[in-house]
Amino acid sequence: MSGPHVAVVGGGLAGISAALACADAGASVTVVEVRPRLGGAVYSFRRDDLWLDNGQHVFLRCCTAYRSLLARLGSEPDTILQPRLEIPVLSPGGEVSWLRRSRAPAPLHLGAALARYRHLSPRQRAAAARAALALSRVQPADPALDRGTFGEWLAQHGQAPETVAALWDLIALPTLNLRAGEASAALGAFVFQEGLLRHADAGDIGWAGAPLSAVHGWPAERTLQEAGVEVRLGWRAQRVAATRGRLEVEAANGGGLDADAVIVAVPHQRVAGLLPDGAIPAPERLAALGTSPIVNLHVVYDRRVTDLPFAAGVRSPVQYLLARGHVPGRPRSGRAATGTAHRRPRPGPGRGLDRHRLAGHDGGSRAQRPRGGPRGAGRRRRAGDGGRRGGRMTSAAGKRMRRCA
Ligand SMILES: Cc1cc2nc3c(=O)[nH]c(=O)nc-3n(C[C@H](O)[C@H](O)[C@H](O)COP(=O)(O)OP(=O)(O)OC[C@H]3O[C@@H](n4cnc5c(N)ncnc54)[C@H](O)[C@@H]3O)c2cc1C
Repeated sequence: MSGPHVAVVGGGLAGISAALACADAGASVTVVEVRPRLGGAVYSFRRDDLWLDNGQHVFLRCCTAYRSLLARLGSEPDTILQPRLEIPVLSPGGEVSWLRRSRAPAPLHLGAALARYRHLSPRQRAAAARAALALSRVQPADPALDRGTFGEWLAQHGQAPETVAALWDLIALPTLNLRAGEASAALGAFVFQEGLLRHADAGDIGWAGAPLSAVHGWPAERTLQEAGVEVRLGWRAQRVAATRGRLEVEAANGGGLDADAVIVAVPHQRVAGLLPDGAIPAPERLAALGTSPIVNLHVVYDRRVTDLPFAAGVRSPVQYLLARGHVPGRPRSGRAATGTAHRRPRPGPGRGLDRHRLAGHDGGSRAQRPRGGPRGAGRRRRAGDGGRRGGRMTSAAGKRMRRCA
């Protein structure tokens, strides 16, 4: 290619997207990734006969950039997108209440679900509806909003702590990765407006129907190759040096990569250490962003515990539960997990999944996979079929779920 040479540091979803965008615009692109695989935080590893996933539990219909990436990678058929938002919300007492949108336009599409939401009293539901309407009118870009927490904003708008825990945090936690009391009010307003209050279908939930690596990293390797992007795995960028108008990405093991432009797509704590001095005005401020860990707990049951593909939990330490497949060799049994796990995908012609061995965790053994990736590996359902496997939870299943919680 004759265009400028762009080096992309980091082969996670951001680096993959950036590399494809640059290649599409005519640049010659090299991606360097320290791990032996692409996908970054979104990957799968294998334990016995199970593929277990890390990262990216769910996405929303309004995540248009992410969905475009899936389309570009050819992975959309490996995901499931609800035709209409539908969240079963469980509590340790065994009560199940559904948050379902109706066909009404936003924000009325959630009115009926809120009116029937049994984890709140009628008074709390009415107050929540008033707060939602108020929230739909605020300006997320207002700097004053960013000075307080979302929890403070909700309290000022009549939301009791129980209402925040049983309703607002159901959405705040998976989207902001913080409870309302810790998150910025501006970000809270943005997420609720974009995801729930502006467009009726924006909050429809999607998830992977195949191991995350089969949906992201493996097809990315093939797609980048087809786009003419060079991918260097196991390549740690040590520093980006700027000399006489040229940039060089220096490798940790010596060596380097000349580039006209460099895109740094690594976790924010690592950015300042890579960039040349003076590249950004106050690099120390990146450290002030902090982090908020997500804990995945994979639980394997010896029997089916739920027919729900996923559920939210209130008044429980389990915030979300995702159920995946069943244990091989135990036909009528099932598993539930707060993380995600898949039965080993059936290998198809040319997929050779049986030969794959993924790292147990980062830094473990290298992925061993035939070049090109297992296109369509683990494909089970088409997007848009709703992913419902068995209707509502039975009370017996509810009891088992309580044990799980
Ligand atoms: C458990 C978990 C659950 C999640 N759930 C969801 C969810 O439900 N919905 C959702 O939207 N998001 C979710 N996320 C977040 C989502 O997965 C991330 O936001 C996204 O994957 C980040 O992608 P990224 O490319 O920005 O960064 P990363 O995935 O972190 O990619 C950065 C890459 O840079 C590489 N790198 C770092 N330093 C160097 C270096 N010096 N040289 C070369 N390479 C380097 C790293 O190895 C990595 O591959 C979840 C994340 C986790 C961990």
